[in-house]
Amino acid sequence: MPATTTAPESVFSRLEPKLPSVQKPIQYVGGELNSTVKDWDCAPDGPTVRWALMYPDAYEVGLPNQGVAILYEVLNERDWIVAERTYSVWPDMEKIMREGDEHGPIPQFTVDAHRPVRAFDVFGLSFSTELGYTNMLNALSLAQIPLHAVDRTDDDPIVLSGGHASFNPEPIADFIDAAVLGDGEEIVLAISDVIKEWKTEGRPGGRDELLLRLAKSNNVYVPKFYDVSYDDRGRIGSVAPNRPGVPDRVRKHTLMDLDAWPYPAKPLVPLAETVHERFSVEIFRGCTRGCRFCQAGMITRPVRERSIETIGAMVENGIRKSGFEEVGLLSLSSADHTEIAEVAKGLADRYEGSNVSLSLPSTRVDAFNISLANEFSRNGRRSGLTFAPEGGSERMRKVINKMVTEEDLIRTVSAAYSHGWRQVKLYFMCGLPTETDEDVLEIADLAKKVIAEGRAVSGRNDIRCTVSIGGFVPKAHTPFQWAAQLDHETTDSRLQKLRDTVRADKKFARAIGFRYHDGRPGIIEGLLSRGDRRVGRIIEEVWRDGGRFDGWSEHFSFERWESAAERGLAGTGVDLDWFTTREREYDEILPWDHLDSGLDKDWLWADWEDALDPESIDVEDCRWTPCYDCGVCPEMNTEIQIGPTGQKLLPLSVV
Ligand code: SF4
Repeated sequence: MPATTTAPESVFSRLEPKLPSVQKPIQYVGGELNSTVKDWDCAPDGPTVRWALMYPDAYEVGLPNQGVAILYEVLNERDWIVAERTYSVWPDMEKIMREGDEHGPIPQFTVDAHRPVRAFDVFGLSFSTELGYTNMLNALSLAQIPLHAVDRTDDDPIVLSGGHASFNPEPIADFIDAAVLGDGEEIVLAISDVIKEWKTEGRPGGRDELLLRLAKSNNVYVPKFYDVSYDDRGRIGSVAPNRPGVPDRVRKHTLMDLDAWPYPAKPLVPLAETVHERFSVEIFRGCTRGCRFCQAGMITRPVRERSIETIGAMVENGIRKSGFEEVGLLSLSSADHTEIAEVAKGLADRYEGSNVSLSLPSTRVDAFNISLANEFSRNGRRSGLTFAPEGGSERMRKVINKMVTEEDLIRTVSAAYSHGWRQVKLYFMCGLPTETDEDVLEIADLAKKVIAEGRAVSGRNDIRCTVSIGGFVPKAHTPFQWAAQLDHETTDSRLQKLRDTVRADKKFARAIGFRYHDGRPGIIEGLLSRGDRRVGRIIEEVWRDGGRFDGWSEHFSFERWESAAERGLAGTGVDLDWFTTREREYDEILPWDHLDSGLDKDWLWADWEDALDPESIDVEDCRWTPCYDCGVCPEMNTEIQIGPTGQKLLPLSVV
């Protein structure tokens, strides 16, 4: 946090001559519709607080990210805060920036006013995937901010992480100053208040004092205020605060009234092509369906719905201000909104005959119904529907507590094919706990039944079903946090057998598409998801060895990670397998145990045991059945918030 208030110079004049020589130069230019540029000293009185916000991926992935877009707006609405955005630069631009010009290297810059990231008070990064960690190190290095928190001075920003990956930030504990857990809207303002007060007082005690104030607020995790020890088996021996007043456990933050925070209200319209070009409204947050693999569902509890009125107003405002022609109704399982039928009908009526189309990007097989799908396709094409049974066999779906029966699925696709849809995509996971080859091979049978049903009800032969498969990665704060991850060799051979089985049946082979990636990136995601502070050395080694954009298959190198793990973990007694394919024990201290998602650890353990017990009963959704004591509501002082009309479980669900 530079003590000077002199506005840093824009680097644009240095950047501009270089732009013709890089790919997609438009991504570095800024000036998007609804973007904001404010004076460096915008506060009418007192100090200005300044945030550089980053989604650590390329512009085309980062710009549509809702989390960053919302915080950008929320912060900029305050007249004493400046918030700007920065994204990962592609390797061609990185090379140019490092080579620089007569003034030296060109630093990591914001796309809004092209200010150097290092000049801001906070450098906030939102991680939805751990594979963005090397991009963070690259941005720090380009920004000329010391990589290690311990080396930073009062002239450096507070490096703050958020997003789902922050529920176990231990692998990046050496590189961040702080992390926040949970919903960001209110907490970024609370952090800004602390910084403002500290600046107003003349920055007493420098960055250490500021971090201490943030840590004592119980809303911000500051890794350096916690010491971690390891036992002789390489497991964590203890995690303990090392400063008075720092809480033993840091709580997640939960925004309870979504209607009071109707963002984005000024949607950013990208200049370059991006992965999603639509206006998205989050119709509810949280999920209590209880799928055991799903970290997002577990850490965002309880369910909090936006009202039908707010959704309607947000859609109208967003379309008017952005000109987007597609509206996505987002959540973890959108058809579960208690008033989704009214929302769909209302929006379809309102925009009938216009260019605006609706999409429901995430829905369950058991919450989908055809009238809902018809509403959503009134103005659009019936291009394809995606359902996610996740487990190939009924047995696996019971293990993961995703209670979708084969009958449900066939009935749903039958309805879809008979109403004009020609393509259905089915999403599964491979490598789930207790899974065998047979469980995965059942996917082929299911796909064939789907095609046969489609042909029968439509009377056509051009029916298609795409089977898409991802490798299962156990995540922190879920009942599967203790599970052994399947090694990538077994994952690959299992999927090869499935592919051979699908291809062997000539009657169906051409109608079934098959998509999967090899199992190796999943192992690295697993390392980063359940790693502890010792994993930081590996991330740094990988970055020094050229690792960037690890979420992109063309940039990812398993060999680079494998060899970095050997070097980074040398002498620790643990290795890559220890972090990934090892099952944890009940009494093991997990690296994230001091980070409180509200979930009761004993409840998670009991649910893990239930997963392994074929006789156990399913966990229902606590929206409509009695609370099953996962711990979140009493721990976080929250409650389920669903619509006034009560249960409206629609007969079926779409992704
Ligand atoms: S505490 Fe009860 S009501 Fe709240 S999310 Fe957990 S199971 Fe549902």
